[in-house]
Amino acid sequence: MNKYSSQIIEHVKSGELEYLQFKILNKYNVKHCITLKRGGVSKGDYESLNFRTLGNDDIKNVLKNLEIVKEELGINYVCKGKQDHTDNVIIIDNKNKDEFLFEKLNAQKVDGYVVKDKDIATLITTADCNPIIIYDTKKNIVANVHAGWKGVINRIYINAINIMKKEFLSDPKDLVVCIGPSIRKCCFTSKEEAFKEKFTSVFEYTDRYLSYEEDKETFHIDLIEILKTELKKANVLDKNIYVADICTRCNTDDFYSYRAAVQSGKKDYATMATIVQISENNVK
Ligand SMILES: [Zn+2]
Repeated sequence: MNKYSSQIIEHVKSGELEYLQFKILNKYNVKHCITLKRGGVSKGDYESLNFRTLGNDDIKNVLKNLEIVKEELGINYVCKGKQDHTDNVIIIDNKNKDEFLFEKLNAQKVDGYVVKDKDIATLITTADCNPIIIYDTKKNIVANVHAGWKGVINRIYINAINIMKKEFLSDPKDLVVCIGPSIRKCCFTSKEEAFKEKFTSVFEYTDRYLSYEEDKETFHIDLIEILKTELKKANVLDKNIYVADICTRCNTDDFYSYRAAVQSGKKDYATMATIVQISENNVK
């Protein structure tokens, strides 16, 4: 069994390439992956499977990395906008998919996608932020959402669910929510009162997600606990929330971490990709 395989996660190795899949999404034939660092062609600080197009990595290497993963998953068409920690979620369909083709590096600020077409994949990038896949098991519709701490606060994942409800009549009780590796409460810390208040002013249940380490005079914030609480408030069932038990900052041999890059004085950082595309859902 590979390192990160668990009851909910399949850690796949395919040659040099490594990625994670959620077993529940495999059950519904949802093509997807959350990449690790290995199996790509990027060099130096970006080694090796970098998907960050806004940094200083050679874009040719990023595109080659994308081709490697597309071939592995058997997908052709990958869409993406420009991530900016917004709460913007858009529907990608046959009308707009060309303008959001990954290779075109669309500059529209988008951090989440909802797709019902079977031939369109979407991609979000993360390095400590939460990659969130929301799948409607009845309607066979999927959302792919980037939620860093700003996205947790602005509830972009709830925006995605609201679009699924409004446009596709999704029932939250049919939704499966999968949260991939991200920075966890062990490492998501701050000494700044003002930073803490960004959370406490929005989420009143502070005792559930906020803790204080006296000797280091440091706050720890549990973003997963906030995500779970907000998702349940939106009528997602507790049993349908799947969280990969992996902190990116604790596991920098395998995952890119923005905080690790900053703490080691690097000027830029690399990112993993979360890619998702629905196919025929044969599960009754
Ligand atoms: Zn950690």
